[in-house]
Amino acid sequence: MSVATCARCQNQSFELREAKIDGASQQLVFVQCTDCGAPIDVFDKHALLERHEQDMRIKGIEQQLAGVAAALAHIGRIVGALANQRVI
Ligand SMILES: [Zn+2]
Repeated sequence: MSVATCARCQNQSFELREAKIDGASQQLVFVQCTDCGAPIDVFDKHALLERHEQDMRIKGIEQQLAGVAAALAHIGRIVGALANQRVI
């Protein structure tokens, strides 16, 4: 598996840092090298936060679905047990 490497200093560790860009209308965030600070990508901070909130909502929905699936499995076992009692 390849590992992301800074083109300037060969470091393989990166961080998010708020970017200060004159004239930028949005708040921007750099992905930058933790050693030399070379930026390797830039994101719109608002879009990044929206994406994070969306990921959290999806995670919450996944947890709720897991709860529903567990409840349905439980109900299925009860129905199966009741059906077996009627046969006997
Ligand atoms: Zn670097």
